Amino acid sequence: MSSEPSIRNNNTTEAGHLYLVATPIGNLGDITARSLETLKSCDLVACEDTRVTGKLLKHFGIQKPCISYREANERTLAEELTQKLKAGASIALLSDAGTPNLSDPGFRIVRACRKQDLSVIPLPGPCAAIAALSASGLPTHQFFFAGFLAPKRAARLRFFEAEREATHTVILYESCHRIEKCMDDLIEILGSERIICLAREITKLYETFWTGTAADIREKMSGKKARGEYVLMIAPASFTL
Ligand code: SAM
Repeated sequence: MSSEPSIRNNNTTEAGHLYLVATPIGNLGDITARSLETLKSCDLVACEDTRVTGKLLKHFGIQKPCISYREANERTLAEELTQKLKAGASIALLSDAGTPNLSDPGFRIVRACRKQDLSVIPLPGPCAAIAALSASGLPTHQFFFAGFLAPKRAARLRFFEAEREATHTVILYESCHRIEKCMDDLIEILGSERIICLAREITKLYETFWTGTAADIREKMSGKKARGEYVLMIAPASFTL
């Protein structure tokens, strides 16, 4: 990729770049032209699940060697991949969906690259948190991305307690298995009148945004089995619709 910055390591071999490639969170039309170009030209794809990324690459007619980079092997692979970068390889890092390194593997390799002055190039694109926030109707000027809450209820309650008087919007990721419990805990601590937005299946067929009081949204959820992927956003304490 000639237009990208290049850096040299001590041995004067031109080091490669680590590209952080954001991928669709549902709608394949959201892949960017630059992401496709990078996937076609890189030497190696490092991804969470090679089957998931294999399907994406196949859809776009791209054939590349893929290596699995996931939570379990992040430590050892970060070292291996930095060696490859130093030897001149260009590596595209992908997660199953969205932006790598955001509630997804990536931190260790990016930190290792920064520490060793290796080039890291972000390719912006889909991210569930930002897509959700942008369409929520909640204040966007200050937000706190908290990712996934701890699975233990006591930790969740403590988290909500700390956000009781928040002056920013809070963004959380939650699975369909825990979203109802999470909502119940939220109401217990922040009250039924707190304004929230629950975004579900963004960019997919059943995309849904519910913005209103926590009690109203909880009511809408009841009686239906929770399915799909959720982003939960909590408005600042003083916010009204
Ligand atoms: N790195 C990804 C990103 O940039 O959005 C997030 C990966 S994290 C492992 C997966 C979580 O993101 C899901 O459990 C859900 O909370 C949220 N998420 C991902 N895709 C989504 C979608 N299409 N709609 C709503 N939430 C989604």
